[in-house]
Amino acid sequence: MTLVVTGGGSGIGLATARLAVARGIRVAVLDLDVSAVDGEVDLAIPVDVTDADRVHSVVHSIGPVSGLATCAGIAPPAGLLDTGPSGLRGLFELNVFGTAYAMQACVPAMRAAGDGAMVTVSSVAAHRGGGLLGGTPYAASKAAVLGLTRAAARELAPFGIRVNSVAPGPVATPLLADDPRFAESTLLGRVAPAEEIAEAVLFLLGPGGRNITGETLNSNGGAYFA
Ligand code: NAD
Repeated sequence: MTLVVTGGGSGIGLATARLAVARGIRVAVLDLDVSAVDGEVDLAIPVDVTDADRVHSVVHSIGPVSGLATCAGIAPPAGLLDTGPSGLRGLFELNVFGTAYAMQACVPAMRAAGDGAMVTVSSVAAHRGGGLLGGTPYAASKAAVLGLTRAAARELAPFGIRVNSVAPGPVATPLLADDPRFAESTLLGRVAPAEEIAEAVLFLLGPGGRNITGETLNSNGGAYFA
């Protein structure tokens, strides 16, 4: 398997890339900053995922790709009333369009093989309507990722491509502020290490996910009910 991990330079993507390498998977990380993984993964390529042409050319240069994890993203806390058009556009360009570009770029190789798996990263914010884990525009972008995931699962199933999402609750990464309220927002009273989200991503990509498509794996410590 060759796995492309966008946002693999930090946090959830970095943990996913490292776990995949540990399992013998060939890994290509695409990130603005690949310094954290340089030398650790097979390919560490500086890429802005909002640049569709660059994403397409880089993915094609990697060779036959069989897995994709889209972890590049930002989570601004700003609310709807505090976010102007350029803020909204930039957020959706990264969280939604950046996800879609990577998916589009991986389809030709997966389609040719009649097999492939993609995992997007959403957020509990998409279900809960923002709040502590991100402002309204962020929650909307992650809800869009879920819609993209389900519809792509339908569209790509005839080609043997599965598409699922992992929706984390609070995860200890540079993206998350140091605030005790994050742990309190879950039933389990903890912020998850990124490695636990990586396990969920690799489960869906691997043989355990063979019969799963269009689904969301909620790894949130029970944040729905807290
Ligand atoms: P992170 O900041 O640790 O990692 C995000 C990575 O994305 C960084 O390496 C960054 O360089 C990269 N990136 C940002 N813009 C990019 C661009 N234009 N092109 C390429 N790479 C780019 O954050 P994280 O916590 O690992 O978050 C990963 C995903 O998980 C995000 O979509 C985030 O919304 C989601 N998420 C995180 C949490 C959490 O609590 N940390 C919870 C739910 C969902």
